[in-house]
Amino acid sequence: MTSARTQVAIVGAGPAGLLLGALLAKAGVASVIVEQRDPDYVLGRIRAGVLEQVTVDLLDAAGAGARMHAEGLPHHGIELCFGGARHRIDLHGLTGGKQVMVYGQTEVTRDLMQLRAATGLPTVYEAEQVGVHGFDGDRPKVSYRKGGQTHELHCDFIAGCDGYHGVSRQSVPEGVLKTFERVYPFGWLGVLSETPPVSHELIYSNHERGFALCSMRSATRSRYYVQCSADDRAERWSDAAFWDELRLRLDRAAAESLVTGPSIEKSIAPLRSFVAEPMRFGRLFLAGDAAHIVPPTGAKGLNLAAGDVGLLSRALAEHYVEHSDAGIDGYSERCLRRVWRAERFSWWFTSLMHKFPETGDFGQKMQTAELDYLVHSQAASTALAENYVGLPL
Ligand SMILES: Cc1cc2nc3c(=O)[nH]c(=O)nc-3n(C[C@H](O)[C@H](O)[C@H](O)COP(=O)(O)OP(=O)(O)OC[C@H]3O[C@@H](n4cnc5c(N)ncnc54)[C@H](O)[C@@H]3O)c2cc1C
Repeated sequence: MTSARTQVAIVGAGPAGLLLGALLAKAGVASVIVEQRDPDYVLGRIRAGVLEQVTVDLLDAAGAGARMHAEGLPHHGIELCFGGARHRIDLHGLTGGKQVMVYGQTEVTRDLMQLRAATGLPTVYEAEQVGVHGFDGDRPKVSYRKGGQTHELHCDFIAGCDGYHGVSRQSVPEGVLKTFERVYPFGWLGVLSETPPVSHELIYSNHERGFALCSMRSATRSRYYVQCSADDRAERWSDAAFWDELRLRLDRAAAESLVTGPSIEKSIAPLRSFVAEPMRFGRLFLAGDAAHIVPPTGAKGLNLAAGDVGLLSRALAEHYVEHSDAGIDGYSERCLRRVWRAERFSWWFTSLMHKFPETGDFGQKMQTAELDYLVHSQAASTALAENYVGLPL
């Protein structure tokens, strides 16, 4: 068995763990990241693509923003499609100049990984049987197996950044966490293709066949989604069937100008709302998907994860540098306020845009009436825009 020590042990090298490590390093706080997968697997996950200004600012503060600014696409609006027509929501105009940045989670992760490697900060990949211990007292540690040996990492704090299925949340004693959950009766079938995006802004489409989203990763790479049944499987969909279904759910101009090509990734994501409260237990902090999940409508998941670790890095820096625990003590409450507001927005936007089989024609009419109101009322458009660009940290 080997034994080592650090100030903050971070479980999980997804965007939350990597960004936390980078922000802590800037504040002079030492960390070790323990990740169960290898770097290529972590990079291979095609997920989020829309960054709020808060996330952009945190990546800049971490020193990982250069490529994002060079290659990312600032977006000033989104389009809502319903009743065969598209309506633009002017995010920039309605929020006093705010915007979002389209830059894929894969690229964010790559930039943070490269920064960590370049600054020589330790990350243990392919750690097996990761366990978190002693966080209800003052001697927390993370254990794992690697190279046929057990390793113990002693620390002052553990940051559980290990996603929804991770070990951190599951290690909190029973009865301490209260969880809230809603599972939606459908999923998103996503296709990534090396084709130019159909529009230079995202199109969110409400259609009687189901929701569709036209998104992108760059000027030459598109990401499209169609709502599918919860028990569907990606292998059942040929590329041609996907493109046909997408075209049916778009307005005529978009359907006719859609450039199709072979998929380079095709997968189905389930949709879920989930929150675990509180986000701190003793010396263990939960951050990102380990504590909460939102359905991807509204693109809040990655942004919430970034917000959590922004607050956590500040709280830990305050602990070490200013010898104040105010930030640590307020961490859970501050995060949860922002989390619940994003949960509400994601749930509302999901409810507005998707086909819910159980609500029938009446439900469809209600959605159309609300969308009609939304695009013709400045107050309603502003509420959507404010939430879409992200609420302040
Ligand atoms: C299919 C899909 C599509 C999505 N699309 C969008 C989108 O369009 N917009 C959006 O905003 N959000 C989207 N999300 C959500 C977004 O990707 C997540 O919110 C974001 O990845 C959260 O980052 P995280 O670091 O908290 O968790 P994760 O990215 O899940 O990272 C957790 C890390 O912990 C590691 N880990 C897990 N268990 C252990 C363990 N026991 N020990 C050590 N390491 C462990 C994992 O391997 C992983 O690397 C999507 C999510 C999914 C699954």
